[in-house]
Amino acid sequence: MSIPESRAAVVARHIFPNVSRLSVPAIASEEPTSTSASGSAGSSGSAEMIHSDVVIVGGGVVGATLAYVLGKKGFKVIVVERDLSEPDRLIGELLQPGGVNALTQLGLAETMEGIDACKIQGYSVFMDNQRLQLKYPIVKGKPAIGRAFHHGRFVQNLRSSARGTTGVSLIAGTVTRLVEEGSRITGLLFRDADGKQKRIKSAVTIVCDGSGSVFRSKISDAQPVVRSHFVGILMEGANEHLPFPWHGHVILAKPTPVLAYPISSTECRVLVDINGKLPSISNGDMTAYLLTEIAPQLPTEIKPYFVSAVQKGRIRSMPNKTMSGKPYVVSGAILLGDAFNCRHPLTGGGMTVAFNDVLTFANLIRSRKDLTDLKRLEKIMSAFYSKRKPYASTINILANALYSVFSAQDDPSLPIMRKACFDYFKLGGIAVSGPIGLLSGLKPYPSMLIFHFFSVALYGVARLLFPFPTPARVFMAFRLLRAATLIVKPLIASESLQCWDAPSLTNVCSR
Ligand SMILES: Cc1cc2nc3c(=O)[nH]c(=O)nc-3n(C[C@H](O)[C@H](O)[C@H](O)COP(=O)(O)OP(=O)(O)OC[C@H]3O[C@@H](n4cnc5c(N)ncnc54)[C@H](O)[C@@H]3O)c2cc1C
Repeated sequence: MSIPESRAAVVARHIFPNVSRLSVPAIASEEPTSTSASGSAGSSGSAEMIHSDVVIVGGGVVGATLAYVLGKKGFKVIVVERDLSEPDRLIGELLQPGGVNALTQLGLAETMEGIDACKIQGYSVFMDNQRLQLKYPIVKGKPAIGRAFHHGRFVQNLRSSARGTTGVSLIAGTVTRLVEEGSRITGLLFRDADGKQKRIKSAVTIVCDGSGSVFRSKISDAQPVVRSHFVGILMEGANEHLPFPWHGHVILAKPTPVLAYPISSTECRVLVDINGKLPSISNGDMTAYLLTEIAPQLPTEIKPYFVSAVQKGRIRSMPNKTMSGKPYVVSGAILLGDAFNCRHPLTGGGMTVAFNDVLTFANLIRSRKDLTDLKRLEKIMSAFYSKRKPYASTINILANALYSVFSAQDDPSLPIMRKACFDYFKLGGIAVSGPIGLLSGLKPYPSMLIFHFFSVALYGVARLLFPFPTPARVFMAFRLLRAATLIVKPLIASESLQCWDAPSLTNVCSR
């Protein structure tokens, strides 16, 4: 069934040539059922009916935050989350300063307290027995800080904040379908903890079911790509011995990078990137790989803790997916969080984009009508896509481009770029403040990112050509520039940066 296109949708798509306007054929179709007053539960056939202004699929990082924020705005919000116990997942442990700022502006700063979270001061980079420190920028006279924590403890704090907000309910249940009535998505069906099927009818359905989203395909035609896996190990007792305490550590190991950062006063996460087939964890191949290939490349201070943690076991892996945030127009449904847009987690930018997205979206919603009137909602979503572009594109391109530079093996010019990148940081001044500002999420300027990316490439070229530009070196310099362009050009295209300015959008969105 196809949804009639409103004028706002046509205008939005004119502004965003990549906008997908999708019909929603695969969504369960349900006849409108008996309505009861908003907030009350009624009955609809065998499925009990609950009414709400907003229903959110997934109470993870984004779902719980959004519920809190919309609840504070006076909406009745229901979150359906399949597992409300403390998550034990290998994701979302380091929040960059730009994410800390957004979370603070959302009124959720206290969710980072009481969970033994660490204050992160910056990054350090290791390559070929050399090391350097990149401190986060100074903001308003104070050094910026990031926060690192146990993901599950943090998510439970977000959920508690949502739960404590008038009008917000968190329900344990697995969403099984989005429901369409006529041309509009009007809620969902879920199975509660007792296996009972229930229906929630709402003005808006917000899908935040993470990077493995099963409902994305009903709303958008974007598809994530698995670029690599992170293999996670928890080191105990290493914090005091880290080369740079309270810093993220990026080890430019071969063939792909390794990250290490504290997540509590006593524990430190190590994430080893593996590009290609994962060695089996169950038969010991992974342990052997980590001990023989990775451990020798780690800084000496970390090595014994890493070896001990690997020998103790509890090695886990997670796919690292990327997918650009593609605008779309579907009546009554919105995609947010990793279900909408994800990037390689090398730079720990996911939650920073997520919290800024929630902030951007929430700032655009001023009245109940903004959610219930679909034409208004379409305009709001157009404004949202435009406003998120600078910070989301900066973080997305940085993460994906750095991963390409730090992990490429098939192009001989890229190890030269990798070394040029490390030596570029050694120059100090803006060669540090620029890149770390971008990574921290505090400088959401795509043009600055492109400037530094090509400065690194040109620095690599200069080092190749001076003092003796032999034909082989000139050829390699050409390859390096070509490789840099081939990395960044598709990323720019996928972020649709040509729409950055979209000046007419302001008019479209003025209400
Ligand atoms: C290996 C790895 C490491 C990462 N490290 C970092 C980092 O250090 N810093 C950072 O900022 N970002 C990091 N990220 C990214 C970050 O974790 C995500 O950006 C963030 O978690 C996205 O939040 P979300 O709410 O969209 O998804 P999630 O946090 O995954 O939440 C989705 C929720 O939906 C629920 N759900 C799914 N399906 C259903 C259903 N059918 N019914 C009901 N509920 C459902 C799930 O149970 C889950 O609670 C990392 C990602 C990966 C893969």
